[in-house]
Amino acid sequence: MTKVSVSTFKAPKGTYDLTPPDSAVYLAVREAIAAPVRRAGYGYIETPGFEQVELFSRGVGESTDIVTKEMYTLTTRGGDQLALRPEGTASVLRAALEANLHKGGNLPVKLWYSGSYYRYERPQAGRYRHFSQVGAEAIGAEDPALDAELIILAVDAYKSLGLRNFRLLLNSLGDKECRPAYRAALQDFLRGLDLDEDTRRRIDINPLRVLDDKRESVQQQLVGAPMLRDHLCEACKAYHEQVRELLTAAGVAFEDDPKLVRGLDYYTRTTFEFVHDGLGSQSAVGGGGRYDGLSEMIGGPALPSVGWALGVDRTVLALKAEGIELELPAPTQVFAVPLGEEARTKLFGLVTELRRAGVATDFAFGGKGLKNAMKSANRSGARYALVAGERDLADGVVQLKDLESGEQRPVAFDTVVSELLAAQG
Ligand code: ATP
Ligand code: MG
Repeated sequence: MTKVSVSTFKAPKGTYDLTPPDSAVYLAVREAIAAPVRRAGYGYIETPGFEQVELFSRGVGESTDIVTKEMYTLTTRGGDQLALRPEGTASVLRAALEANLHKGGNLPVKLWYSGSYYRYERPQAGRYRHFSQVGAEAIGAEDPALDAELIILAVDAYKSLGLRNFRLLLNSLGDKECRPAYRAALQDFLRGLDLDEDTRRRIDINPLRVLDDKRESVQQQLVGAPMLRDHLCEACKAYHEQVRELLTAAGVAFEDDPKLVRGLDYYTRTTFEFVHDGLGSQSAVGGGGRYDGLSEMIGGPALPSVGWALGVDRTVLALKAEGIELELPAPTQVFAVPLGEEARTKLFGLVTELRRAGVATDFAFGGKGLKNAMKSANRSGARYALVAGERDLADGVVQLKDLESGEQRPVAFDTVVSELLAAQG
């Protein structure tokens, strides 16, 4: 047989496909992150993969890298300006407002989501143009316990996956009482530094973001910069102290990181990031914070809110970095191997019955011989094989083979389902 190229097409730059068996790990990670939030009363929300560009330029911020450099935008045939969603919060809040979820008199509205996000970034390990997040948002309440709840749920999710080498960085960004004075003080300080033109522009639009600059040359100059924690008003201090106390009481360790910012006016108070130490420079596995002003920025009423988004791709990389293999249930428990036409029909019927009874069962398709069929059975990870030929059928039995021990015994055709259900426990 001549070898032909598999396909002319490849996954676009900065993207990758999830294929079995690795895809099972991604699914398990998504489920592990979702499990704690579901147990905490968060309801599932799904929004479109694209929105009006305007939602993100307002809801993420005109001065952020996401909006200025990373958005995939398009004009529809009808002339609408759309963007593939680069993040989840703005869309979720937009959808909650649109559905009037905040008007049920039952605040906070607690929502979780899971899906694909798109950013035009320079692809590298842990940084892709298509990636996957699970997120949670609690809309419409200002309560330190809510901030603490979300952080604890994320920590519990990571822990349930067996992750150990992650750290929680915590900060408070203050609020509209105390931040303006701090902002001015920081601008004064930054204007005295030797910075490139782009960064100087940032001083005017988004000075807090300069603190977050990853470049060593910038970080060196930031020694001695005024820190927000020394400028917090009493209310913000008390709020932050309560978040910290609740986290400590829950056994959640954190590190104060006064430079951790989300430098936009509608981000307030609590801000946090989870970093993993085995991931090199793409170390952030998740992040979030309070965004009390966002609702108003997108035309809604005042709805103080808090949320996070955890990166699925980087969480999977973190598992690898720690050498963690998730214990995933075998996708197939029973594998049926028919020998001959009559057995094929009978066993196929049995496979359907087993599946309907809840036993994960697969079948040797394609008229394979016994040897190849048994190879498929072993590869499937199934614990049991069901083998039947004409003589077995004449005797009203199938051979039940334990693929672990190699033992094989005949089982009456009619009792196969109940036997296998019992064997499953
Ligand atoms: P970074 O500083 O690494 O660019 P970010 O601050 O842009 O991260 P967020 O917007 O807070 O990230 O998104 C939350 C999480 O989503 C991140 O902590 C990360 O795990 C994941 N994430 C963000 N961008 C990407 C990407 N391009 N590829 C893979 N995962 C990503
Ligand atoms: Mg980024």
